[in-house]
Amino acid sequence: MKKVMIVTGGSRGIGAATAKLAASRGYQVCVNFHKNEAAANQVVDDITAAGGAAIAVQADVSDESDVKRLFSSVDEKLGPITALVNNAGILEQQMRVEAINAARLKRIFEANVVGSFLCAREAVKRMSEKHGGQGGAIVNVSSAAARLGAAGEYVDYAASKGAIDTFTIGLSREVAEEGIRVNAVRPAFIYTDMHADGGEPGRVDRIAESLPMKRGGHPSEVANAILWLLSDEASYTTGTFIDLAGGK
Ligand code: NAP
Repeated sequence: MKKVMIVTGGSRGIGAATAKLAASRGYQVCVNFHKNEAAANQVVDDITAAGGAAIAVQADVSDESDVKRLFSSVDEKLGPITALVNNAGILEQQMRVEAINAARLKRIFEANVVGSFLCAREAVKRMSEKHGGQGGAIVNVSSAAARLGAAGEYVDYAASKGAIDTFTIGLSREVAEEGIRVNAVRPAFIYTDMHADGGEPGRVDRIAESLPMKRGGHPSEVANAILWLLSDEASYTTGTFIDLAGGK
């Protein structure tokens, strides 16, 4: 069966590492991006230079019409989707809960939660054997923050990832007998540019010494777990989590 994957937020960080690893394992990959077209095109160029197949498609995952357009362009250009990585996510400046306003909460929950629901909805419509599809697998990118709470940094972000954990359990049970597996990874302290968005580019190095493994993680280490969960090796695994947080 042809393997077709959408990686949301594939233009950098964990998403870019996942897109490249997937392409090297025979997936045709749609690298979704929001604002950074040049970075997404670079990921596509890297994949094609290595002999793989990929396209870049702009879409804001929190926008319903963008998500519909994203999935229909993949239908047209690559064919039926077999794997979705719900990776796109944001956080904002570190602050305590009493300083967080409603506009920020909306942005966080729309990008992280609404976006994942909308993309999963479109994937299920296409993959479900109930709808004539061939099955498939979804991996949601949650965070260890869902367990740890991110106190003093971004409790809003952590709570949005808590929602992703519950979403993973619920959706996995809803579609388990329709040929779709749904799992999640819960990374933390991974070297990406996301920490700069929170106002602390050196955050991983600051925390590394306090982790059981005494080091931060790399996007490729998260990508390896995502690809395993999507693979046939994980054929009896659904509704579960792999933590990638250096033992924390
Ligand atoms: P990152 O380097 O900041 O990359 C985020 C990606 O998401 C970018 O490609 C960005 O696209 C895309 N994106 C953001 N908002 C979007 C939207 N509305 N629609 C579509 N794409 C959007 O982040 P990362 O560190 O790789 O994190 C990836 C995922 O892992 C996130 O869900 C994050 O919460 C989770 N995570 C990361 C860590 C960590 O330590 N880094 C820990 C736990 C969980 P553009 O650049 O094109 O705008």
